[in-house]
Amino acid sequence: MDERVVEVALPLPLYATFSYRVGEPWAVPPRGARVEVPFGNRKAVGVVTRSGIAPPASVELKDVSDVVDEAPLVEPPLLDLAAWMADYYLAPPGECYRLVLPPAGIRASRTVVRRIAGASAGDESAEDPLLLALGKGAMPVSRLASRLGKDPTAGLHRLRREGRVEIVQDIRAPAFRNVQVASLVDGAEDPKPSAQAEVVTRLRAAGGRMRVADLVRDKASLRGAVSRLAEKGVLRLEEERDVRSPEGLPLRDVGRHTLVSDQEEALESVGAALRTESFAPFLLHGVTGSGKTEVYFRAAEQALALGRSALFLVPEIALTPLLVRAARTRFGDEVAVQHSELSAGERHDQWWRIRDGEARVVIGARSAVFAPLPRLGLIVVDEEHEGAYKQEESPRYHARDVAVMRATLEGAVVVLGSATPSVESHSNALRGKYRRLTLGARIGAHGMPRVEIVDRRAVLKAGGDAILSPPLREALAERLARKEQSLLLLNRRGYATSLLCRECGQQATCPNCSVCLTLHGRGVRALCHYCGHDVPTPGACGVCKGAYLRLSGYGTEQVVDVVKAALPGARVERLDRDLAARRGAVARVLAGFEAGETDILVGTQMIAKGHDFPRVTLVGVVDADVGLGLPDFRAAERSFSLLTQVAGRAGRAELPGEVILQSHWPDHYALTLACAQDYDSFFEREMEFRRTMAYPPAGALLNLLVRARDAGPGAREADALGRRLRDAARGRYRVLGPARAPLARLRGEHRFQILLKGQRAAMRAAVKGALVERYGASRWPGIAVDVDPVSVM
Ligand code: ADP
Ligand code: ZN
Repeated sequence: MDERVVEVALPLPLYATFSYRVGEPWAVPPRGARVEVPFGNRKAVGVVTRSGIAPPASVELKDVSDVVDEAPLVEPPLLDLAAWMADYYLAPPGECYRLVLPPAGIRASRTVVRRIAGASAGDESAEDPLLLALGKGAMPVSRLASRLGKDPTAGLHRLRREGRVEIVQDIRAPAFRNVQVASLVDGAEDPKPSAQAEVVTRLRAAGGRMRVADLVRDKASLRGAVSRLAEKGVLRLEEERDVRSPEGLPLRDVGRHTLVSDQEEALESVGAALRTESFAPFLLHGVTGSGKTEVYFRAAEQALALGRSALFLVPEIALTPLLVRAARTRFGDEVAVQHSELSAGERHDQWWRIRDGEARVVIGARSAVFAPLPRLGLIVVDEEHEGAYKQEESPRYHARDVAVMRATLEGAVVVLGSATPSVESHSNALRGKYRRLTLGARIGAHGMPRVEIVDRRAVLKAGGDAILSPPLREALAERLARKEQSLLLLNRRGYATSLLCRECGQQATCPNCSVCLTLHGRGVRALCHYCGHDVPTPGACGVCKGAYLRLSGYGTEQVVDVVKAALPGARVERLDRDLAARRGAVARVLAGFEAGETDILVGTQMIAKGHDFPRVTLVGVVDADVGLGLPDFRAAERSFSLLTQVAGRAGRAELPGEVILQSHWPDHYALTLACAQDYDSFFEREMEFRRTMAYPPAGALLNLLVRARDAGPGAREADALGRRLRDAARGRYRVLGPARAPLARLRGEHRFQILLKGQRAAMRAAVKGALVERYGASRWPGIAVDVDPVSVM
């Protein structure tokens, strides 16, 4: 063992870690501290995973070129979490550590060398080259090294002994910006000149305090008046830290409710667990509209009262501006929001506020599970069944499962909430692994909405419209007449689903992927939903050059057109991923709908999630079969929960709700049981299927994907790995494939998959063994390992 040797993980797709020596000017950084190291012919910032280790034999160790953090910026549980992820998901350790460490650009401290004044006075000519490079003042060691073109460590050590330089850690405060704020001084006299009077009026309207930038935003000429008022002592100017935070909806007081007895009971269990300050996992199964949010918020209040912090995970933050607002109303400035749309500046500020304990309530999507909250007491995973919690790129973690592990490491309480718990979580609750809490009834006056299935085969036979059947159209018209609102779900965006050649019957496909192009913009553009390929809709068939092309199928765009044509005068808006690509657009559409400026909101699953609109009394599902036919073992579960969730948007307040599903497949159990809102029967039915097929939770899955430019070599790799994995199985798991993945080509790459079913630990060990044997310990080119895959497409 050598005290000065550290093991470093680099944020690259590398499965190995690397050893470096820490030169003398630095103290040896502990686990979790970042260091800059030479790697190949460049520098990279990695993280120390162990320090004081045995130097590997036979390699000459390089020195770290800079110590970024003297001490880790996050607490040990987060570091343990990263290490666990790397191991459990067979993921590159550096990529896992990067998730828990500050965003790039945040520097805690760095090592600086400073000239000791007067030490070399009078002897300038005989100066050491190091001192010459250093100049008069101070400089980070890393900059000195690059200026010299070599490692200054040994020389600095000598100069320090000679008392000519000192080596210090420079702790840099995070780079917050300041803004100027004006506040009215009590009892000051009202000013006469009109500009000054206007400033005072504006300030009063804003409650006496306002940012100067906002005060003069539309009228720059008021700036002079602000200064003069400050001189007169009518107002006070102060600097305030500007925390860049994302725009939200205007706050609205939603009030506090007296809990109903189910809520009371659930809260009592969670509260008792919080007070024991140890790990406790709960599954909160509450039907739609049963008041889960109130339970979450009360639990968070209790956590804060105990001096601990709270983390809320939602499947997709852009879809939940209403939840964010409710949390802001309840917890004020303590709330920080984290999601992928944040700018670098916002991310930086939010990270520091959380890390320093200023924002003790964090709301965010998937990656917020790594928020650096000190003394974390409560984690809520809302809509825990959502597939969006799974990250589909490396590291392929599931935020719900990571949340449970984090709670274990932090000694925290974790609450998984859903109206339709995932089959896995429900089975965990039945086995006693999670404690089950139930909110069995809706809060509103009318209970669950009435659901009707319209058989589309009959509608089409009778000559009815494929998109709006007569019953659905009538129901929409009734809502318009009564000034109530409707949601129309179609889980398919775009205008048409494909472009069909009438001569040869072929569909236009993506040149990079084995999927059809979708038509957008009333059919003028053809898009691939997987790789982003985007071209004007071709005028001739790519196969036979035939010129008679036809749009077939329909998506949300076309539904909007059809609804507008059928119900002139209806105010219709659309909400789907195309719209969400514009920053702030989701919040705008939801706010307009909430304010009653929209009658009918058409959208994909985005409209099904978590929203609480009291005037929605009708939910129409244009095509309830979307997704049911996919070659994916979770297809039925996904349909069941989507339909249950969207049905749950209707009739949440004083007005009763109605749901209409249009289907070609009205007898499918996912549909009939969603209509009956019968979760327990669905679960049993689905478990039977999972047991028969040894799908989760009856057995674990691991999907190994081989990607290659050319099909031949890809297939050969997959075959070799498949053979090796079969040989190692010894009855502990089964190997399916290799076979072409359902999405056989994606972004120009051929895809082969090997699906393993069985005991997770044995599968992980075998896969790791096979990959190390074939490719070595560090790089596994073209291979994607997915432990507990959510989608096997
Ligand atoms: P869920 O998330 O379970 O679907 P919500 O948390 O959105 O349900 O609650 C549904 C509605 O009931 C909301 O409008 C909420 O404000 C209201 N609500 C929640 N708890 C109570 C209560 N104890 N009394 C009255 N209204 C409540
Ligand atoms: Zn494509």
